[in-house]
Amino acid sequence: MSTRRALPSVDELAAGVRAGDRGLLARAITLVEGRRADQRARAQALLEELLPDTGRARRIGITGVPGAGKSTLIEALGLARIEAGSRVAVLAVDPSSTLSGGSILGDKSRMNALAQRTEAFIRPSPSAASLGGVARRTREVMLVCEAAGFDLVLVETVGVGQSESAVADMVDAFVLLSVGGTGDELQGIKKGVLELADVVAVNKADGDGQERAELAARQLQSALSLGRGRHAGWRTPVRTISALTGTGLEDLWSDLDELWSTLEADGRLAALRREQRALALWGLLRERLEDHFRGHAAVRGRLADLEAGVLDGTVAPGRAAEELLRLWSPDAD
Ligand code: GDP
Repeated sequence: MSTRRALPSVDELAAGVRAGDRGLLARAITLVEGRRADQRARAQALLEELLPDTGRARRIGITGVPGAGKSTLIEALGLARIEAGSRVAVLAVDPSSTLSGGSILGDKSRMNALAQRTEAFIRPSPSAASLGGVARRTREVMLVCEAAGFDLVLVETVGVGQSESAVADMVDAFVLLSVGGTGDELQGIKKGVLELADVVAVNKADGDGQERAELAARQLQSALSLGRGRHAGWRTPVRTISALTGTGLEDLWSDLDELWSTLEADGRLAALRREQRALALWGLLRERLEDHFRGHAAVRGRLADLEAGVLDGTVAPGRAAEELLRLWSPDAD
């Protein structure tokens, strides 16, 4: 055990993060991702110290099915932004990491050229007991990266359903990466992911894939015209791109740039981020309250029975909730 390095203090970590010390940045992130109660307390102290230095990055979420080309796009986009003078952090929200304890997203070997740049920082998805836990930790890691001077944060996610909205709730702009000819453009529509997208990019518009991509883009465009986007007055553009050859990436970036200008012009970006901080607070409260509730001895003794009754249709959900809440807190009204 004597080989363990002494824990740096919260002040040392904060100073190291601000100075862009990669070793201390990695240790700060490990702390923020930690699940033990003592780590959580130190992590919160660290975050509070770093908060004044956060919020200056542009935050982009990127989603797409496995194989859509997310890592290829992130690498190309990341390298281009580094050339333009940015420092780029790549984070991931992978719901499967809650089961496997590991994540394929944000894996450095998927973005070799980017991983080698000192201006880039790539971090796989944290593992946690729940998607909410994964998302909260990623949000906190994002703040640490911002304090370390990364001015572009790319949050990658995969999958269907919940993880996209968890990511949409922590970024300014959300990009749906689709591909032609696999039917996933329809899957996206079904799962409501399309409604979260601020920009849709149909990837692999190169060689034989060109026509398929253009067809998919037209389908997505017409599906989009039916719905409403996340931001009033913003029409979600659909781009065909090739992450491999770089075609269309400049246009994709100008779409995102335009979105920021739109949001910044009338204070909506600040409002969006306020709202996201409120969501983070309430997400955390719900998670902690539920843990506390489920762990309460008297509640535990009745929960299974009452839940079974509700499932069978013999107990009204309202009565079950009332009884359980009274067991949890006799003053609950
Ligand atoms: P991810 O799972 O979404 O991260 O997808 P990857 O970036 O790993 O890409 C999956 C496969 O698609 C790889 O073999 C890539 O080389 C390929 N790929 C990615 N982007 C393009 C593209 O624009 N055009 C073509 N033709 N292939 C691509």
